[in-house]
Amino acid sequence: MTPSPLGLYLHIPFCRQRCDFCSFYLEIHRENRAETFVRSLRHEIGLSAQQHTAVGRHIQSVYFGGGTPTVLAATQLTAILAEIRMHLTLTADCEITVEAHPSTISEQDLTQLLQAGVTRMSFGAESMEDGDLARLGRPGTVDETVEAVTRARAAGFTNINLDLMYGLPGQSLEGWQRTLVHCLTLKPTHLSCYALTVEEDTKLASNIQRRLSPAPDEGLQIEMDETAQGMLGNAGYERYEVSNYAKPGYACQHNLLYWTNGEYLGLGPSAQSYLDGIRFGNIANLAAYDASLTAHHLPIEDRTRLSEEEQLRDAVIFGLRLIRGIPSHHLHQHAANYGHTAVTTQLLAQQLIEEDGERSRLSARGRLQADTIAEQLY
Ligand code: SF4
Repeated sequence: MTPSPLGLYLHIPFCRQRCDFCSFYLEIHRENRAETFVRSLRHEIGLSAQQHTAVGRHIQSVYFGGGTPTVLAATQLTAILAEIRMHLTLTADCEITVEAHPSTISEQDLTQLLQAGVTRMSFGAESMEDGDLARLGRPGTVDETVEAVTRARAAGFTNINLDLMYGLPGQSLEGWQRTLVHCLTLKPTHLSCYALTVEEDTKLASNIQRRLSPAPDEGLQIEMDETAQGMLGNAGYERYEVSNYAKPGYACQHNLLYWTNGEYLGLGPSAQSYLDGIRFGNIANLAAYDASLTAHHLPIEDRTRLSEEEQLRDAVIFGLRLIRGIPSHHLHQHAANYGHTAVTTQLLAQQLIEEDGERSRLSARGRLQADTIAEQLY
């Protein structure tokens, strides 16, 4: 049997500064740290290709995430990509995404990335109103987002994503509508719209606690979600996952792997992998990561082999997020395995999960409570 293709995720753990809402593992970018990291990552690519069953598997998607991958020089990113090609086989139509903060990329960088084979740029716009960005503690301006998209097009990119967030401090429904209208004028092929969530130990959480910032209003976020669905649907975008919309043919192949319980290898500090029924993760500490690779050891910190029941659980929990959903018998088998029959029946009765014959998915209301439902079904 031909092994199924893999996704490859690279965690670039640097940003110029931390946004108020962000809880990702990252370090503030410094040239010398970045140079050491790139050396370590290239070494990790070579070691992983020898030690995992990634050998002989085709890579269907490569995703540079972070952090802010584009705080690295384009030459560093293309050197990483060249290292990947040296050790692993990419499919002919491999989707290669680079996440970028709009203020960190020039047209020359974009041209270099395109020539190296990057197929998709994903810009963290977050909002198209400068006041929202300022209240979020998010560096950058709306003009920079517009310029970044214009430059990417001029460089030759045709597949462009914009990440947006809604339910921001002080953001009104009208403000969110203006952001969506402005985004649509940029004609991205893909839009990710995330409800702002307040993560522990972030500046935003502390601001809310000290009443310097309002907490997100769940009712308003629901209206904003419905507004996005309506406006983006009218503009020809298909909602294919809780937070993701794409023009036909532009769904993100890499992220689809996560939601369909596909396999992926994650490299870089804190990156997670799922391969051969085993979940494993790298150490979330840059110095320890570099030290491990200097000693020629993969920086893997924990490893868990999933039973068949656990694999089905994950397939159900992730797959319900997709608009195409999952086979209904998977949902019921999982409910039986985990003693969740009563809770599943309740979620169906409350119409938070909907079943149409053979497939089940979160309903429109269920999508707004996706994380809570996932916890109930875990
Ligand atoms: S740019 Fe992204 S990864 Fe970096 S701090 Fe802001 S939200 Fe977090």
